[in-house]
Amino acid sequence: MPISRTQLPVITTPALPPLYAAWMDEMLTGPIPHETDATCDDCAMCSGEGAEAQDGETFFNPQTKCCSYVPELPNYLVGRILADSDPAFETGRATVLARLEAGVGVTPLGMEPPPIFVALYGRNSATLFGQSRTILCPHYLAVEGGRCGIWKHRNSVCATWYCKFVRGATGQNFWQTLNQLLTAVEQNLARWCVHELDPGGEALKLLFPLGGENAHAQVDPHALDGAPEPKRQRALWGNWAGREADYYKACARLVEPLAWPDVLARSGPTVGIYARLTSAAYRQLMSKELPFALKVGSFRSVHFNADTQVVISYNGYDPIELPKSLLEVLHYFDARPTRQALAAISAERGITINDSLVRKLVDFNILVPSER
Ligand code: SF4
Ligand code: SF4
Repeated sequence: MPISRTQLPVITTPALPPLYAAWMDEMLTGPIPHETDATCDDCAMCSGEGAEAQDGETFFNPQTKCCSYVPELPNYLVGRILADSDPAFETGRATVLARLEAGVGVTPLGMEPPPIFVALYGRNSATLFGQSRTILCPHYLAVEGGRCGIWKHRNSVCATWYCKFVRGATGQNFWQTLNQLLTAVEQNLARWCVHELDPGGEALKLLFPLGGENAHAQVDPHALDGAPEPKRQRALWGNWAGREADYYKACARLVEPLAWPDVLARSGPTVGIYARLTSAAYRQLMSKELPFALKVGSFRSVHFNADTQVVISYNGYDPIELPKSLLEVLHYFDARPTRQALAAISAERGITINDSLVRKLVDFNILVPSER
């Protein structure tokens, strides 16, 4: 019994940027499968010409796709971008140079999103994400249907976010867990670079003020206006003031030779814990095992066709189309053993449901494991 997803062509993209791919090659027991349903070159979230969203369906603005977002870049990724001399990368590198030149959120820890983005997105991410050009990423290039200028060196969030997942909630769980890990790695390694390259005591006081995160809670009016105070910027950079690009490249050189055990050694126990969680999520992602017993999960129908229904379960961006004949037998999964439910469906309704279809229904939370 077939179930269908999008009808868009499948175009594969690299699973992770090279630095993070190398670390995950060491940490995980195998390669990470590509999320081929997220067809970024022909965005799966953008409508075709003239198409209108059906009930419950979301389309992204084709002028932003999922890049209505400004990423935080850790110092060593800024350095990798600045040091990348590939001529094909020149346009992307220029977007980071522009951020460096503007100076807003430019610190020895890396590049922070500007306060105007933080203020807008922090309170309105649900409505602005995928829609607003006002908060479009500065690294987004409006060429070839829209593409990322720093794809090769994108950060943890951009490397792990997808709108759709081949294995539904199982895939989403893996990528979200990996994001948690890589975000913690970025924070730890950025701090390690500051420690190693030492901007000086006064700069450290500004970078790590008493009160921690709360000390930065007030919006800096100069940064808000796009013109940070030169005196404060010099103090923030200390020994490296005037040599910011050199500093970022030095960070990249420090991180480049690190193997995964070196990363763990330079990070706190939290990264070790997140690494274990990511390995467990990866094992789930690669496992095809079926739960012993299943029951019907929570989902809503958003569109009705003659023989099918489009339903949304774990993720509003990832609807799935199911045959009505399949929906009509789901009640057989009532916490009895999975094999018994399948045998009963076959005997009483003459419908054979194979293991890969059951797995798909579990991945999309249409069926969920029963505790009993
Ligand atoms: S991940 Fe982003 S660019 Fe790729 S298909 Fe989804 S919304 Fe489009
Ligand atoms: S860095 Fe690239 S992937 Fe991330 S939001 Fe910007 S354009 Fe999109």
